[in-house]
Amino acid sequence: MEDLFKDFGSKVFGEKEMKSRLPRPVYLSWKKTVANEEMLDRTTADAIAHAMKLWALNNGATHFTHWFQPMTGGTAEKHDSFLEPDMNGEPFARFSGKMLIKGEPDASSFPNGGLRTTFEARGYTYWDVKSPVFIRDNILCIPTVFVSYSGEALDKKDPLLKSLEALSKAATRVVNILGDKDVKSCDISVGLEQEYFLIDRKYFDRRLDLRFTGRTLFGAPSPKTQELDDHYFGAIPPRVAAFMKEANQELWKLGIYAKTEHNEVAPGQFELAPIFTNGNVAVDQNHLIMDILRETAKKHGFACLLHEKPFQGINGSGKHDNYSIITDDGQNLFSPGDKPAENIRFLLFVCAFIRAVDTHPLLLRLSASCTGNDHRLGASEAPPAIISIYLGSYIESILYDIYTKNSKKPITQEEKIAFNPVTGLSYIPHDNTDRNRTSPLAFTGNKFEFRMLGSSMSASFSNTVLNAIMAESLNQIADELEGIKYIQDIREKALTICRNLIEKHKRILFSGDGYSEEWEKEAKRRGLPNVKSFIESTEVLNSPSVINLFTSLNIYSEKELAANRIILQEQYEKIMGIEVRTMIEMARKDILPAQIAELKFYNDTINTSGKNTPKFIHNHTKALSSLVDQTYQAIQELEEAWQKVTAIGNTFEIGQNIYYKINPLMEKLRAAVDAYEHIAAREFYKLPSYEDILFNI
Ligand code: ADP
Ligand code: MG
Repeated sequence: MEDLFKDFGSKVFGEKEMKSRLPRPVYLSWKKTVANEEMLDRTTADAIAHAMKLWALNNGATHFTHWFQPMTGGTAEKHDSFLEPDMNGEPFARFSGKMLIKGEPDASSFPNGGLRTTFEARGYTYWDVKSPVFIRDNILCIPTVFVSYSGEALDKKDPLLKSLEALSKAATRVVNILGDKDVKSCDISVGLEQEYFLIDRKYFDRRLDLRFTGRTLFGAPSPKTQELDDHYFGAIPPRVAAFMKEANQELWKLGIYAKTEHNEVAPGQFELAPIFTNGNVAVDQNHLIMDILRETAKKHGFACLLHEKPFQGINGSGKHDNYSIITDDGQNLFSPGDKPAENIRFLLFVCAFIRAVDTHPLLLRLSASCTGNDHRLGASEAPPAIISIYLGSYIESILYDIYTKNSKKPITQEEKIAFNPVTGLSYIPHDNTDRNRTSPLAFTGNKFEFRMLGSSMSASFSNTVLNAIMAESLNQIADELEGIKYIQDIREKALTICRNLIEKHKRILFSGDGYSEEWEKEAKRRGLPNVKSFIESTEVLNSPSVINLFTSLNIYSEKELAANRIILQEQYEKIMGIEVRTMIEMARKDILPAQIAELKFYNDTINTSGKNTPKFIHNHTKALSSLVDQTYQAIQELEEAWQKVTAIGNTFEIGQNIYYKINPLMEKLRAAVDAYEHIAAREFYKLPSYEDILFNI
């Protein structure tokens, strides 16, 4: 039998390679650097670079790159070959410690929100020792942070790493106070589920909207969509299975434990979930997963759509961010254990999370938002834009018991009678994490699942935010507990803290239907914010509590936050601009000519048939001619409004105007075009339709 996993990790210079290829002292030095115990010195860096080069050349690499995550949300790289002339002018492969550690890409065109002036436009990349280097094609890729000349973060990784440090300190403080003195640091475990669509490349190529914006800007509903739920978890079509097989093989080579794959709700929609790993690596791996899905799709004649809402009226795609906090000796701090009611540490961490979320709901909302996700959040397929937490009845009942000081024994796992649906099995594993798919933040057994993220987004910022708000909340707990001498008193005090936190923040707990209108009303009554759009959520970066959160934990400076806010707002304008121009171009070049040709065809028929013209033709030409007018008028209005709206105001005002004034006009144009597609003859309406695109893989 072929060894399924023989190539697993073959393209990663990870711990195993380091151990076998580095001299022992160098390897130990590197380990200490990763554990934050030692700075990497020049000799060690040179030795690592040398071993890395030999390994890379052995594996077919010719170039290396500092792989980084600019604020565009994607990844970037600039390739340099290993090739250099030696003293005699002979070619040889050079890769030094300095080249490994520091890069100077002239990446002056990336958005920087004013962090770089043109005379110092250069940014610098620095090796992230905690994320393994890997080979893609013939390139040795070195994960790096990207910062400006004066040290400001120009990327999404640098703040993530800083937030991990802040969280580690805060969580370790609490764990130590509670008596576990051996724990020296904490990290997060993150599992990112990725949804995506696959469509046949030939349809993708024929639609400007898909090519330029990743979504369809027009498209009448097809007679059948997802109402039968016959795609969800259905058999994976053979062509897709071949694609998945290759994608998995590529991911495994990169050391990514791609694990779960299945059909999603919408036709043509799928999901891939790797096994969780530490947060920093999980975010890097998710970028690779998105890249590999896109590339492998091309090879198989597909286009992989990572946009949050490629098709109107059909479920869009998200990314679930499963999050837990782990000690350096492997204890999951969100694990309830056998007796959660007595597990004070678990209760404290859950209560810390509840406060963190209730204190910073708008920041969390922003961390999951992007232009594309505006079509999903709150649209009855994804969690609402209102942030709340679902704990499940078991954990919730324990918290309420504490809160009400109820001395009655809390329900235990054993007392929940497991339904035994199958005879002949002596044991049915019981699952006490009852599921609520409509909650934005659900406790699922031993982790929180943050379900709002858009599918195309980097998971960097969401994890930076989760770390920061948890660090803040845990530090407050540590402050309250520090100095208490006896463990029994600490436990008593911890219970009081939990009680107070539940009292103060219980409004954020909700276990009902998050998609319902009642919840919107109830949330309002509870005073929970409901920010409708991405653009409006960006302003939270300007709020004193958020500035204080990030600056006090040394994650973002005030200047960096301002830059990030501007970048997000500019990005919104740019993306919307592309959508508007693409819409207008398609309406002018594809739609109007089709309408006119069809109109002419029927008018000619009327002219030749005279009195005998069937009624359908009269009615149809009338409808057509009215749709021509509507389309034309909507184009004019949209074009004019865009000019006006983008001419004045700051980035936020422009963004708001786009959201409130441009969106309705885009809908108006779409409505006219879709109404035409609905009645058009295939001969005239030539764009691939939803039925073509969604039901042909
Ligand atoms: P579901 O679709 O039910 O949410 P999946 O199995 O598709 O579940 O995805 C769950 C994700 O959560 C996987 O990536 C899994 O590895 C990850 N995960 C499991 N346990 C933890 C944990 N303790 N911390 C973080 N992520 C976890
Ligand atoms: Mg999930």
